[in-house]
Amino acid sequence: MDDCIFCKIAQGKIPAKRLAEDAEMLAFPDIEPQAPVHVLVIPKQHVPSLHDVKDWGLVGRMHQMALRVARDRGIADSGFRVLINTGADGVQTVGHVHLHLLGGRPMSWPPG
Ligand code: 5GP
Ligand code: ZN
Repeated sequence: MDDCIFCKIAQGKIPAKRLAEDAEMLAFPDIEPQAPVHVLVIPKQHVPSLHDVKDWGLVGRMHQMALRVARDRGIADSGFRVLINTGADGVQTVGHVHLHLLGGRPMSWPPG
């Protein structure tokens, strides 16, 4: 999609540090980190939200990439959180589905 910031990041038109990448997805640091490690995993294809997912295996593979990044960043053993904000109450602000990986500090529960 032409006006989608995450499509532009996937295409290299907006700079982001490419932490992990394969043919179908990309991991890069969140621009406003909410934890010492805050990484986003996105499909390279434009998928607006969880509602629009056709290939559910892709969502599993996004988790696999998040786990790989968690191990690379040294937070796999201390623990981490992965989540996908969806819709208004979920506070999804970018309309291109993305998985957040958060770690490097204790998370609170319930979330805000
Ligand atoms: P959401 O609220 O949609 O789940 O999360 C969107 C996330 O994208 C936010 O945490 C926000 O900081 C991040 N973000 C928005 N624009 C950019 C950008 O241009 N580059 C990067 N790296 N992250 C972004
Ligand atoms: Zn997009």
